Amino acid sequence: MSKALGEFEIIRNYFARAPQGEGVALGIGDDCALLQAPPSGQLATSMDTLVAGRHFPADADPAMIASRALRVNISDLAAMNASPLWFTLALTLPSSDAVWLKKFAAGLLETAGQFGISLVGGDTTAGPLSITIQVIGHTQKPLRRDGASPGDSIYVSGPLGAAAAALPVVLAEREVSEAIRREAEQVYYFPEPQLTTATAIGKFATSALDISDGLLGDLIHICEASGVAAEVNLDALPIAPLVHQLAADNAIELAACGGDDYQLCFTVPEAAAGQINQLDLAAVPIGRLVQGEPQVRCSYRGRPWVAPSPGYRHF
Ligand SMILES: [Mg+2]
Repeated sequence: MSKALGEFEIIRNYFARAPQGEGVALGIGDDCALLQAPPSGQLATSMDTLVAGRHFPADADPAMIASRALRVNISDLAAMNASPLWFTLALTLPSSDAVWLKKFAAGLLETAGQFGISLVGGDTTAGPLSITIQVIGHTQKPLRRDGASPGDSIYVSGPLGAAAAALPVVLAEREVSEAIRREAEQVYYFPEPQLTTATAIGKFATSALDISDGLLGDLIHICEASGVAAEVNLDALPIAPLVHQLAADNAIELAACGGDDYQLCFTVPEAAAGQINQLDLAAVPIGRLVQGEPQVRCSYRGRPWVAPSPGYRHF
């Protein structure tokens, strides 16, 4: 690589001082990290890549890019009811810009500290800007997609549509007030992994996933994995306030189909629904599972509703 800072300097200067938390026997600096697995339960692992120009604007604040990259990965741990432990980072950079790296590393390590997850290794390469993070967590009670049954109630963990409403603002395609712009950036770059909800519903839920590609686009994965159909009442969807501010005319479509909210969609047996409603959660029942071919059927204002656009497509 021809660049000002070599790979080892990048790691040493910006990432090697990452605090080493629980279970890290040996952190960054050797050929491998050595990690002590908890004595019971299972490890959960997932990886996500964010590419400049596709998942975030290339000129976005590096600290905010880092926050989003780590948070969307931790969201997958939440979706599995796993608590965050460790992560690795593969960073591809057009050039070794010291100012960019310093801000990125600061944002990354700050986010890591907030969620108690330790950076234990990584790699840097020259090329178009992209960020790959692999997370590892621990679960005593995994929430898989294949455990749901007909009769289960379907819930979402909180308001939907905010990130889809925020996107044109984040992409600078739309001019708004400074306050709204900040709120849009907050929603898009600082999504909240639903770890608390996952823990609370862990013993009741029969399936769960995080809504990255849109509620309807993701719920079908539970239907397919569990061999059930879903009936969703769109009148019950919790709609994020930002949707009403930015896209009131498309509120239902954004809440049903918009991606990047990272709320959980989960199912619980009807008998447990009362217990879920008693928990101090923002979760809302939106429908139920029925016998049938895997599909999601929606109603809105008493009539069948068909999504005008599919969920987010990765390619
Ligand atoms: Mg996911």
